Amino acid sequence: MILFKQISQLQQALAAARNENKSIGFVPTMGALHQGHLSLIAQSKRENDITVCSIFVNPTQFNDPKDFEKYPITTAQDIQLSEQAGLDILFMPTVDEMYPNGQQLATPYPLGRIETLLEGAFRPGHFQGVCQVVHHLLNIVQPDAIVMGQKDYQQCMVISKLLEITGLPTQLKLGATLRETDGLAMSSRNVRLSPEARQKATAIYKSLTEISQHITKKDIITLEEEATSFLLKNGFDKVDYISIADAVTLEPVTKPVKDQQLVVLVAAFIDNVRLIDNLLFSFSS
Ligand code: AMP
Repeated sequence: MILFKQISQLQQALAAARNENKSIGFVPTMGALHQGHLSLIAQSKRENDITVCSIFVNPTQFNDPKDFEKYPITTAQDIQLSEQAGLDILFMPTVDEMYPNGQQLATPYPLGRIETLLEGAFRPGHFQGVCQVVHHLLNIVQPDAIVMGQKDYQQCMVISKLLEITGLPTQLKLGATLRETDGLAMSSRNVRLSPEARQKATAIYKSLTEISQHITKKDIITLEEEATSFLLKNGFDKVDYISIADAVTLEPVTKPVKDQQLVVLVAAFIDNVRLIDNLLFSFSS
């Protein structure tokens, strides 16, 4: 594995690979790597000749400065895990390297409705920051494919829109959400949970599966209300949203139709840690 901190050196190495007609897969991350990230690297390795993973805690996508300050950094372990995963290239730029002319976004991306829903409503500016950094990284790496996790389902839809807006030739590939054995979605933020909160956090996955199993038996509002009270009774302090939505538009669904692809998305706080998760299912299931 080669570790680059400078854009110019990374680009030299990638130009050489491209000259040899090698396909490039790209996995952007914010580090504190876990098995979920490593599964995306493994997917990219299966589908491409060369895999690049970036680790960059992007300041422009944090609407809450405290969340940015508390974001876990585990550099030595990340390097070791990447190497063990057989990663070809690790890119770890500094903030100055990524934003030499300041962090201000010149023109907002016309993302439309999707950035006003769910995460967009609770984290103003978040998806503009995500697009800013992913667009910059895509211009640097110029990968054939970008591999992203369904764990951040709305983010995947936003990046799909970014690719449409920019016309970049990169293909978006989604990777399944990796979970702990008790169902909790793996997340870099899980390390901030106390042992007690970690135990209780399993309520999120329980509420998602409960909804997917009862979708044909109860109406949407009842399912959402029951899930919210279940989370609040089981250790969560606040629920930002729990929404049953169309899997493509992410618009809330009131009356699902047969075979409609749905996604239930949740964001909730436990122990001052904001966790998000989601589950895809179809109405007839
Ligand atoms: P992050 O470092 O949290 O920005 O995540 C980097 C990438 O890893 C994103 O595409 C995430 O969706 C993905 N990811 C995070 N958690 C998981 C997980 N549990 N399973 C699969 N992919 C994940």
